[in-house]
Amino acid sequence: MTQPTYYIRTFGCQMNEHDSERMAGMLEASGYRAVDSPEDASVVVFNTCCVRENADERLYGNLGHMKRLKQQRPDLRIVVGGCLAQKDKRLIQQRAPHVDVVLGTHNLASLPRLLAEAEHGPAFEIVEQTEVFPSALPSRRACPWHAWVSISIGCNNSCTFCIVPAVRGREQSRRMGDILDEVRALVDDGVIEVTLLGQNVNSYGRDLGGHPLFAELLWALDEVPGLARVRFTSPHPKDFRAEVVEAMAGAGVVCEHIHLPLQSGSDSCLRRMKRAYTRRRYLDKVAMVRDAIPGVAITTDIIVGFPGETDEEFADTMSLVAEVGYDAAYTFRYSPRPGTAAAAMDDQVPPEVTQERFDALVALQEEISLQRNRALVGTVQEVLVEGPSRKDPARLTGRTRTNKLVHFSDNAAEGSLVPVRITGAHPHHLDGEAVGPGRGGTRRLSLPVLGSCPG
Ligand code: SF4
Repeated sequence: MTQPTYYIRTFGCQMNEHDSERMAGMLEASGYRAVDSPEDASVVVFNTCCVRENADERLYGNLGHMKRLKQQRPDLRIVVGGCLAQKDKRLIQQRAPHVDVVLGTHNLASLPRLLAEAEHGPAFEIVEQTEVFPSALPSRRACPWHAWVSISIGCNNSCTFCIVPAVRGREQSRRMGDILDEVRALVDDGVIEVTLLGQNVNSYGRDLGGHPLFAELLWALDEVPGLARVRFTSPHPKDFRAEVVEAMAGAGVVCEHIHLPLQSGSDSCLRRMKRAYTRRRYLDKVAMVRDAIPGVAITTDIIVGFPGETDEEFADTMSLVAEVGYDAAYTFRYSPRPGTAAAAMDDQVPPEVTQERFDALVALQEEISLQRNRALVGTVQEVLVEGPSRKDPARLTGRTRTNKLVHFSDNAAEGSLVPVRITGAHPHHLDGEAVGPGRGGTRRLSLPVLGSCPG
């Protein structure tokens, strides 16, 4: 009998990447083998996202292509999971009746059972509460030396532009002992860097009776032998407190980088977004982290053109960006997401105004990113090697502890830590040269990796 095969297409954030690793792990535990294209697969999974613009059009476009494939191969099984499935529920099979399985964000563990049920007709299961924490499921990691580790799922906030609470549910923290057991097992398997995942990592543990809190988790991870780097994403600024900054400063394993989503620099706009902090409080948090952690890199997310955003409010965002001096910013043009409070707000900003503001913000940030990167020229940074550079395979690419991309020449192994002198700066990357031997590493670079490593 030929071995069944699978192909997973993932949309959206790291949380979805992590869920896809779990789905891949379950399929492999059920005897499936990964392939590189839907054409070669017996099961094709779309792990969807509804945060980004036009997510549904992209999904249905892909499903249109799959319909033709299914006409040629009726035994092909098509699965739709993730946030859009959780939001649209039965609508997916109504619009695309050739879809065999629909499952939501809370019941990944049901995938093998639903596939078996689909032998007898379309299978559908959406539940509203997580049954098994995704990290308790088998996994097929995309990267030998890095792993995503889920510490909480769901979100108790109600930012008016965001659909996540509707599709990921109330916040649920995972037991600290389970997280530490998973990290120790990952390190035994060759992982040296983990990224902790949660919609709001700073509120980790509140539903566990207030303890352990996120800072305690960071300190505990510092005790795991063999673990070199811990990153996390994302902290909500309102919950980013002194004890976490102390842990970041004192626990050597925690990287000197914080992604602190701003969204807007205007108090009135932040109120409409229901972000629960002010410009002043945000700047105080930035000062707190810079005081405690020399050389820390700060990155952010910003939405431009939120409903009702005036020229003055946008000017507040620009001035805050200049004042903070972010290392990088992910800038988004606001567009309404059905089902969110902001989508129903009056006073949507005309697209051309949003675009103009967006261009001005991107130009400002590029200038600041370049200045921040130039300040590193001449310094020596520890770089974790990710693999050959995509633009120039003769060179290597890796990341500093501050999460800056560095291209440099060396023959170090993937997953090794190399001291690199920074020789050049650009807005989005650095150039460098190795100044010492790398340590660690999982293999020489000529071997292919399973998928994509973070970056
Ligand atoms: S904190 Fe706000 S933006 Fe982040 S997931 Fe929760 S509701 Fe969405």
